[in-house]
Amino acid sequence: MSKRKVAVLGATGAVGQRFVQLLHNHPWFEVTALTGSDRTIGQTYGEGCRWILPGDMPDWARTMRVSETEPGLDAEIVFSAISADLARDIEPAFAAAGHHVFSNASAYRMAADVPLLIPEVNADHATLLTTQRRVRNWSGSIATNCNCTATGFTVSLKPLQAAFGLRRIFAVSMQAASGAGYPGVPAMDLTDNVIPYISGEEEKMERETCKMLGALQPGHIEPALLPISAHTNRVPVLDGHTVCVTVEFDTPATPAEITAVLQAFKPPAIVASLPSSPARTIEVRSEPSRPQPRLDREAGGGMTTVIGRVRTDSVLHARYVVLSHNTIKGAAGGSLQNAELCQAMGLI
Ligand code: NAP
Repeated sequence: MSKRKVAVLGATGAVGQRFVQLLHNHPWFEVTALTGSDRTIGQTYGEGCRWILPGDMPDWARTMRVSETEPGLDAEIVFSAISADLARDIEPAFAAAGHHVFSNASAYRMAADVPLLIPEVNADHATLLTTQRRVRNWSGSIATNCNCTATGFTVSLKPLQAAFGLRRIFAVSMQAASGAGYPGVPAMDLTDNVIPYISGEEEKMERETCKMLGALQPGHIEPALLPISAHTNRVPVLDGHTVCVTVEFDTPATPAEITAVLQAFKPPAIVASLPSSPARTIEVRSEPSRPQPRLDREAGGGMTTVIGRVRTDSVLHARYVVLSHNTIKGAAGGSLQNAELCQAMGLI
């Protein structure tokens, strides 16, 4: 199989760099363009990008010139790692020009005809792309991944929804610095501190989760009717978002039953076979002090959701802690997996 040409928009940022790292030697995709802002256009990626990831920048990227973020790039598939305000105009322009956009930005996540995907959770929602192309008269398309805090949270809820039904949820996040991009929150604000406000984050976590746990209907998704109360906080952790979850089920379940359901969770076969899918979607830790970002965020190459401290709750039914890597599963890795899914389903 010849590799498909892909571009990364906003390739110099925190998420863009993860794309470059994860696309190195990708079996299906080959990077033909990296884009940036006026700050970096025309420079080589090696000159324009301050590489912040462990390991070296790949040689093929180092010498590539940073292009303008404009349709017409030599790439069928476009991974978007630009801000939501830019994405609002830029992503539809790419889709109209025939590019298949896989976006990390929030601009189109809640649009009725745009799939908001976590392959292990709602692979069937990807078929919305057919409606989207018809309604918008695009030869390309836009599919998105969700907010990085909603990612692990939603993966953990999917098997519980199927087994016990979900009634109400209360959640508190502890989110890593890299979630704010690079350079992100000033060190003087975040070191020795917790910031109990991340603009727009609580609303995204609440509404995006309900869309992803919702049901595919002709041309749209019927969101799950699930009250979620989310508190989101920025903490001095580099990578990895932790969420403490308290949940009420339709059918009460014991910690042993919840653990068994989480451990047994398997995505559909088409998802399990994608190059970026981890061997295990969910890993449940039995130690009382896990998961921890430093110890557990690299599980499954940053694509596995790690859960621990499953226990009963005296107010609702149960509580647990969930950890997910925000720039891998919650951003670039998840977006790559979405493109692989849409390719495997014959949608792009
Ligand atoms: P970031 O580190 O601030 O990077 C922003 C990127 O956008 C840079 O490559 C920058 O290029 C580029 N850019 C800025 N202005 C531009 C312009 N006018 N035209 C074209 N490109 C421009 O941000 P990030 O954290 O990577 O986030 C990227 C997107 O992913 C955002 O929508 C964010 O909400 C979303 N997201 C982030 C995470 C995360 O964990 N960080 C997780 C999920 C989703 P230059 O360097 O050339 O200026």
